[in-house]
Amino acid sequence: MKAAVLYGKEELNIVPDFEDPVIKESDVLVKSKYTGLCSTDRTLYRGFVPFKPPLIIGHEIAGVVEELGKSAKGLDVGDHVIIPPVFPGCEDENCPACKEGLTNRCKNSVFIGHGVHGGDAELIAVPSKYTFKIKDSVPLEEACIIPDAVSTPFHALKSRSVPPHIIKNTLNSSKLFDQKTHWLKGKNVVVFGVGGVGGPTVNLAAKYFQAKNVLAVDIFDNKLDFAKKLGATQTVNSKSYFEENNIKFNELTGRDKAKAISGLARHISSHFAEDKFQVDCVLDCSGVSDTFPMAVETVSKNRTVIQVGWPPKPVQEFLNQKIMDKYLSINGTWACPMNELDENVKAVEDGIVDLDLLVTNKDYKLDSLENAIHDLEAGKILGRATICIE
Ligand SMILES: [Zn+2]
Ligand SMILES: [Zn+2]
Repeated sequence: MKAAVLYGKEELNIVPDFEDPVIKESDVLVKSKYTGLCSTDRTLYRGFVPFKPPLIIGHEIAGVVEELGKSAKGLDVGDHVIIPPVFPGCEDENCPACKEGLTNRCKNSVFIGHGVHGGDAELIAVPSKYTFKIKDSVPLEEACIIPDAVSTPFHALKSRSVPPHIIKNTLNSSKLFDQKTHWLKGKNVVVFGVGGVGGPTVNLAAKYFQAKNVLAVDIFDNKLDFAKKLGATQTVNSKSYFEENNIKFNELTGRDKAKAISGLARHISSHFAEDKFQVDCVLDCSGVSDTFPMAVETVSKNRTVIQVGWPPKPVQEFLNQKIMDKYLSINGTWACPMNELDENVKAVEDGIVDLDLLVTNKDYKLDSLENAIHDLEAGKILGRATICIE
């Protein structure tokens, strides 16, 4: 089969005759049609994280079932499917995470396109129970971003946004997590960074979880315009804010830096004046480290900050007393547990998620994957790019 194979750092070859995958009894063989391009692909390509070559990359996959293993269940040949990038390797009683239902944090997690071969190839074999059917009405060139770019913020918003004291003091706490009665409904949400993951975060918070206000923060105006199309009610360009106030943010340290950050936080929350400046949840999707102290400063007391984007460096000069003083919940999040994917797929099938807006670049083919990675690096991709495998 034809495949995009990493043989080492920056050695990405399109191989015309890579060995076909062999399916196990409980597997399905999927003809990979489209993949979403993720910054993780770039991280692997540049050798920033270790991997064992040769490796087929690509972990946001949509395709068509080609063949079923003997004991594969719930799918038919020809079904349109998506494949999650991370699935549990055990679901074992002895795995603490799986035992607690956190299949996304399984100690034996399988990472497609990193730990095992991915979907930037004509074929991929996956366990049938972790292959999710999707209606033919959802175009596969858009569906491929569901497994990661959409499901990661979906899980963050659904399950990581509610402060523990609210859960504890609510009689029917499961209602806080249902879409129609979700805690975020009518709340004020701030999203830092409107990229491949921040875009879906804005879209889901506004359209699916029905936050009252979704304010997007970025340093690029075109990203903020994009956020507005996705449902952001307000936007703040943090770079322009600092410039307009004659603040040279990157040169600041210590107290001056803290002062600049609290000024920005006040500016952000001033958009919610009619709600007593209340900021109920801040999601950091920026993938840079500087935004974390800004997120902590921006969120209101007794509320939640969720780290959604991967920060490349530790945070410098961060006043962690703030976390204590503001009684904050700082929540990490990671992919999406298997038991939330059906709800996520349904949200897309019902047309609540604007996949057509979120996928901004549809012209890349497998042969131009390396170019796509370079374009992603150069900031030329506004939302998500998808790769056509054929
Ligand atoms: Zn990804
Ligand atoms: Zn496990």
